[in-house]
Amino acid sequence: MSNSLIESRKGIGNGLAFVVTGPSGAGKNSVIDLVMAKLPNLVYSVSYTSRAKRPSEVDGEDYVFVSEQQFLQQIEAGDFLEHVTYLDDHYGTSRSQIEDFVARGLDIILNVEVEGAKTLQKTDLRDTKVIYVFLAPSSMQELEARLRKRNTEEESKILRRLEVAKREMLDLPCFDFLVINDDLDTAVLELASIIVAERIRVR
Ligand code: 5GP
Repeated sequence: MSNSLIESRKGIGNGLAFVVTGPSGAGKNSVIDLVMAKLPNLVYSVSYTSRAKRPSEVDGEDYVFVSEQQFLQQIEAGDFLEHVTYLDDHYGTSRSQIEDFVARGLDIILNVEVEGAKTLQKTDLRDTKVIYVFLAPSSMQELEARLRKRNTEEESKILRRLEVAKREMLDLPCFDFLVINDDLDTAVLELASIIVAERIRVR
């Protein structure tokens, strides 16, 4: 093996970006949290949002919570790699955070809804290799049950999340990998396996 290949195997060089997408309620947060606890050198891309903080969430860890006005100013300033309006709230991926992590050779996990993932596919991320993983629920009934169990939203918002989810499922063929979150441990193992396999891929 050439020296340069061995160097790249040691993780020297740009980090990889893993975009985990799929419908809200499929379990992206739970699966990502457990994978991050398992694998070293993996950082989470903390998105910005104008949505109200849920009691269980920590500002700066789950999201950076900002006012709508600040979010709009950040769009103007070009702070986001991609941003969407999802059910009346804004969500955006911080450009500087991603560039900084990747330059330091860290692998990042992004947690975004499907439109944002499709925008990232069209975005020039220079030398960063981006891997797209679609996390799906085992069924729409299961998704509905999860959204209700979270107990964080009123009925009308749950119904809108389900409507969006049905549309999002149609975009599944756009992505590289499918993980079905039927059983949490299996989904965690599958996402971790994708990350490990990409890390040891000969490029
Ligand atoms: P929630 O309100 O449940 O935290 O998030 C709603 C949806 O927004 C989820 O599907 C989540 O993955 C997505 N999301 C979170 N941050 C971002 C982001 O920065 N960009 C995009 N496009 N979607 C995001």
